[in-house]
Amino acid sequence: MQMKALQRASTWSHNWFGFWQTEPENDPMLPVVKDFIDPSWNPDDKDRIIAYLTNAPIVVAAATDSEDCLLCSSDQLTSCFQSDGSWLWPEDLAHYVACHGVVLPNRLVFPIRLYHDCLLSNHFHLLAHGEMVADPSS
Ligand SMILES: [Zn+2]
Repeated sequence: MQMKALQRASTWSHNWFGFWQTEPENDPMLPVVKDFIDPSWNPDDKDRIIAYLTNAPIVVAAATDSEDCLLCSSDQLTSCFQSDGSWLWPEDLAHYVACHGVVLPNRLVFPIRLYHDCLLSNHFHLLAHGEMVADPSS
């Protein structure tokens, strides 16, 4: 039986997310975005989670143009990558979560729920200024 999006999200073992195969099987190391879609994933704090993704510092900016979303025709900035110090994701991940029902890995969502406010105010500030950041779980 094929694994469902929620199962995939609960077993995702990497600390990056949101990098997809753009053509079928063009990069087997990357997941297929459709495998992570479950429109029924609608936690009460989804808006906060999306805000977290959107507000995290940009850690890498590459010189590529924007590209169309893989699932709709909207133009997405794909040249910037964001990080909270533990996870790395492309700037358009929030779009996939907000507009296409992409399910985020449990290991990414869990600390967002625990430390959201503290992370947004302190952690991101420190990250943005290149200072050492204490592990919020310690
Ligand atoms: Zn889209």
